[in-house]
Amino acid sequence: MAETVTNWAGNITYAAGELHRPHSLDALRTLVAGSARVRALGSGHSFNEIAEAGEDGVLLSLDALPPQVDVDPAARTVRVGGGVRYAELARQVHRHGLALANMASLPHISVAGSVATGTHGSGVGNGPLASSVRAVELVTADGSAVTVARGDERFGGAVTSLGALGVVTALTLDLEPAFEVEQHVFTEMPLEGLDSATFEKVMSAAYSVSLFTDWRAPGFRQVWVKRRTDQPLPDFPWAPPATEKMHPVPGMPAVNCTEQFGVAGPWHERLPHFRAEFTPSSGAELQSEYLLPRESAVAALRAVDGVRETVAPVLQTCEVRTVAADDQWLSPSYGRDTVALHFTWVEDTRVVLPVVRRLEEALAPFGARPHWGKVFTTPAAELHARYPRLHDFRTLVRDLDPAGKFTNAFVRGVLGD
Ligand SMILES: Cc1cc2nc3c(=O)[nH]c(=O)nc-3n(C[C@H](O)[C@H](O)[C@H](O)COP(=O)(O)OP(=O)(O)OC[C@H]3O[C@@H](n4cnc5c(N)ncnc54)[C@H](O)[C@@H]3O)c2cc1C
Repeated sequence: MAETVTNWAGNITYAAGELHRPHSLDALRTLVAGSARVRALGSGHSFNEIAEAGEDGVLLSLDALPPQVDVDPAARTVRVGGGVRYAELARQVHRHGLALANMASLPHISVAGSVATGTHGSGVGNGPLASSVRAVELVTADGSAVTVARGDERFGGAVTSLGALGVVTALTLDLEPAFEVEQHVFTEMPLEGLDSATFEKVMSAAYSVSLFTDWRAPGFRQVWVKRRTDQPLPDFPWAPPATEKMHPVPGMPAVNCTEQFGVAGPWHERLPHFRAEFTPSSGAELQSEYLLPRESAVAALRAVDGVRETVAPVLQTCEVRTVAADDQWLSPSYGRDTVALHFTWVEDTRVVLPVVRRLEEALAPFGARPHWGKVFTTPAAELHARYPRLHDFRTLVRDLDPAGKFTNAFVRGVLGD
């Protein structure tokens, strides 16, 4: 019987009337080899059609495979199965006294899906989550198992790969010794008078810093400062401390959020904003995000301020983060230290899309690269101008998947085919 398969937000219903859940790697390889079109679905937290297999395609999930998390304490690495989510991965890694360098705002998302879209947290010294990947194990179009590791000339295209190279069955990630983090929230930091030097100081005040605004006024309602306890105490003279626990979306319960007020805790219970056992964010929303050179951050914030009256009525919250440069060809932070401007919209595509277009016009002069997993309308020609290695990625897709088994309409739109 046909089932209805949607993404987390519910704005996308996948055309395939069935989600295939192979129970073994052999069954997965047979399914891939015997199908004309295939797409893997992770935890479905993307907001666009990136995971769409199409009506005649096979949409598959890896959540019935054994949830492998094999930590190698001596090598400080972990090999994680293609269906595993960060919450489970982090718990097991922490049990070995080890840590991931960073996490996104929520631990609910799958590792394979996250690194495929360039998902990131914040921190001037922290690259996207994909930067901890050492090796990718793929089932390619004919059902073969292929491993692409650091040092392989294809590696730059193999991690942030939009699901276009094959089904990722495992990833090996770098780990580091476990650390503790304390989280401090400050309120009402004005945009007026903010210059590039001050922006740098604010965002560098601790391991991970996020600014939040609803753009109803030119300033930041909240500043979240996540300090590693093995690093100095931040001096934060730019805004007063919060007097109560906060949620980044106004009106949402702070109980959903990780511990604040400087209570130290393990890295995986402080680096995400949202607790694994609660709904992240608002739960009824769409999201967009644009990543641009960090030196343009203040000018870009002023450009958003210039369209504030268009943006604010359909916005729940906007988050400003930093991401260190990395070398994945399709990473939105490829080759440049980055500022990421994120927008949590109301859940109405019809009213949000025109605002997204207006915002993209305002951010175009900064060469803004859209987050692959969120709502955007940037055309392929622009994407090619903003991703200098996109042509190399297209060559890699054709080499590994000449018949385009994993190339859906979204990927064709990105490649400009
Ligand atoms: C509430 C919320 C908060 C978010 N916060 C952040 C944030 O802090 N930072 C950030 O950068 N993003 C954030 N995102 C976006 C999210 O991280 C991305 O959409 C990410 O792709 C989610 O992973 P997923 O497993 O749900 O991917 P899916 O949406 O399931 O899939 C994304 C892509 O990965 C591919 N894929 C998934 N699994 C495999 C596999 N095993 N093999 C091959 N391809 C695969 C799919 O085919 C698709 O192309 C957030 C999203 C939500 C809903």
